[in-house]
Amino acid sequence: MVKFPEYVSVGCHKYKVSYPHSFREVTRIFGQCDNCLHEIRVSEMDQGGGRRPDSAILGTFFHEMLHAIDSIYMNGKVADLPDADKEMIISQFAEGLTQAFLNGHFPVVE
Ligand SMILES: [Zn+2]
Repeated sequence: MVKFPEYVSVGCHKYKVSYPHSFREVTRIFGQCDNCLHEIRVSEMDQGGGRRPDSAILGTFFHEMLHAIDSIYMNGKVADLPDADKEMIISQFAEGLTQAFLNGHFPVVE
């Protein structure tokens, strides 16, 4: 079971963490970062309604938090890249963070 804080700080901003978030309108996405409302949304379920592995849920959280970091600290430089490049860069950094947290036995997964 993955536990997230209710809020995370990015710069001087508080982003609300919505988990588990239900994307009823678009089922093919697992996460979303709303830089206007300062909200990070992470789904617990896959497209078929099954529970996603903890590592995938944690990876989605880092992915969305990196979009927030890009917006706040980098003025959206990564977001300005073409979609394929933007998502590849964000996903690879998120994968690295997820591996570090899981291998480092941080107390975010029980
Ligand atoms: Zn993304």
